[in-house]
Amino acid sequence: MTQNRTKIIGLTGGIGTGKSTVSKIIVKKGFPLIDADLIAREVVESGKPAYSMIIDTFGEKILNRDGSIDRKKLGLLVFNDVDLRLKLNNIVHPQIYKKIKEKLLYYSINNAIIFLDIPLLIEGLEDLREFGITFDEIWVVYADKETQIKRIIERDKIDYESATKRVDAQLPIDEKLKFADVIIYNTGDMKELVSNVEKAIEAL
Ligand code: ADP
Repeated sequence: MTQNRTKIIGLTGGIGTGKSTVSKIIVKKGFPLIDADLIAREVVESGKPAYSMIIDTFGEKILNRDGSIDRKKLGLLVFNDVDLRLKLNNIVHPQIYKKIKEKLLYYSINNAIIFLDIPLLIEGLEDLREFGITFDEIWVVYADKETQIKRIIERDKIDYESATKRVDAQLPIDEKLKFADVIIYNTGDMKELVSNVEKAIEAL
């Protein structure tokens, strides 16, 4: 049977479950993959529409010395303040979604299978739908909590307590699984992960 339309696969996970690793495997297999994190960084670059809106709202204190936005500082500022976080999201999200839609359109000319890598896919599902971004399948990369913690301790060179805090700040991975059409298990080694991704691709 021939494939006759574009399929959009939303790829997500929890911190340390291995979403970025799975993304790399998918890109290596030759599939187009849109990286929402990368877009989130691009839309706040100097000269982009979100840049001046952020300065107007948060002040020049969130700038680095070179005039770029200090995303870490901004993140800390909104971390414990729902109103500020909402303000920031209202500036940044429409820009991110616009860019995602442009890229989806670009890749869809070939009836392609397109992967959209979004860390906060489940949390933003309603928002994305409102912007006309929907998924044919949602893939969730899964690892148990202890594995998540162990991996980010190693990757980010942080201690157990900070790693646990980062995991606990997110929607638990078990909650995300409820939205999954496909679960990519990543509790074993790399070889097993590659094989699990290949199986999921074959089933498309
Ligand atoms: P995420 O993007 O979900 O936060 P990453 O893909 O960055 O997670 O993976 C977290 C860390 O764990 C990385 O350093 C990665 O190289 C490592 N990792 C991921 N999957 C495996 C695996 N199956 N075996 C060994 N290390 C892994």
